[in-house]
Amino acid sequence: MAKVNENYAKLPGSYLFAEIARRVAAYSAEHPEAKLIKLGIGDVTRPLAPAVIEAMHKAVDEMAHKETFRGYGPEQGYDFLRQAIVKGDFAPYGVNIAEDEIFVSDGAKSDCGNIGDIFSTHNVVAVCDPVYPVYVDTNAMAGRAGEYLTDEERWSNIYYMPTTAENGFVPELPKTPVDLIYLCSPNNPTGTTLNRDQLKVWVDYANEHDAVILFDAAYEAFITEPDVPHTIYEIPGAETCAIEFHSFSKTAGFTGNRCAYTVVPKALVRQGQSLNAMWNRRHTTKFNGVPYVVQRGAEAVYSEEGRNQVRETIAFYQENARVIREGLKEAGLEVYGGVNSPYVWFKTPTDSWSFFDRLLKEANVVTTPGAGFGPSGEGYIRVTAFGDAEATKEAVKRIIELLK
Ligand code: PLP
Repeated sequence: MAKVNENYAKLPGSYLFAEIARRVAAYSAEHPEAKLIKLGIGDVTRPLAPAVIEAMHKAVDEMAHKETFRGYGPEQGYDFLRQAIVKGDFAPYGVNIAEDEIFVSDGAKSDCGNIGDIFSTHNVVAVCDPVYPVYVDTNAMAGRAGEYLTDEERWSNIYYMPTTAENGFVPELPKTPVDLIYLCSPNNPTGTTLNRDQLKVWVDYANEHDAVILFDAAYEAFITEPDVPHTIYEIPGAETCAIEFHSFSKTAGFTGNRCAYTVVPKALVRQGQSLNAMWNRRHTTKFNGVPYVVQRGAEAVYSEEGRNQVRETIAFYQENARVIREGLKEAGLEVYGGVNSPYVWFKTPTDSWSFFDRLLKEANVVTTPGAGFGPSGEGYIRVTAFGDAEATKEAVKRIIELLK
């Protein structure tokens, strides 16, 4: 008899987004005339950069001719892309990452989950709370999270590190030993970051305790402040304790195109095993899943033209973030994030769901209640900057009016 992975049965339903959709649908049915503005989406809305499109067209044409056709590509990703990544994402920060430390993949989401393949199920996992739910869910599926405690809305074996306004959104070092530490900076959903000194504390901890940091840099392109590292490898010692995830999704609009990469330094060794060699072994059997055409598109992000075009798109979202941040402040709300991130996070005057309802019904603005990102997200709401500029301004105007 085939046995199923029973850990899947322990997963709570995707309550948050289903509940948002239910409330929005119910309100729209009663008020078909209402012009709802959605500031809840975590997906990009601007088209791919022309340089990316051009590179992909060219690559498609190459596939049409015997001389230039490509079959299976290298498991770690094409050299041309890995070279562009080293030069474009690490060299500018004085970081020395080698090409064979880079593994191209179809998404940071897949990598954040799949990375668990190279770690024992006996590791204790620490996550910031609130955070991108994929870290907890994938560890739960792997059997690392223990039991789901419904009343507390948390897993018994996950070490939650609250990040709230009270501690400046900086996680405190754990009081009991942990082995795998997820850090996301800029963080989804709070939009807050860890600066050099704050990250150094974690690098020192991980090296001292033989822990491994799983650092998610998916929103790195949104960083504007100089003391916020774009990669954890800017911190000396990170190469012996950290794996880093990058994605072209939010930085270059690839959410539907799928391309990302993970860095596993060769200096990262645990129990005498090179994690780089282990992850490479995984890639040699499971492949990276990114078509040649898409990798050519990703390479074009690093061309001068591509870089300028992508920067314009980021600037567009950053301006939305500024409009939201300033507007919500003007409305009298306590606002965080949005400076180095497309996410703005604010404290709700009432509980998250009541305030969500008020924004939906009285301002016709759809947001995301924070509780869906972890227990400490209760009392906050996330607003995203990925929308249309005019709609974003209109939404902010409505919120200001509402709270006058
Ligand atoms: N990491 C974080 C923190 C995210 O918020 C997201 C998507 O929202 C991802 C990773 C997913 O990236 P990708 O589209 O490359 O799978």
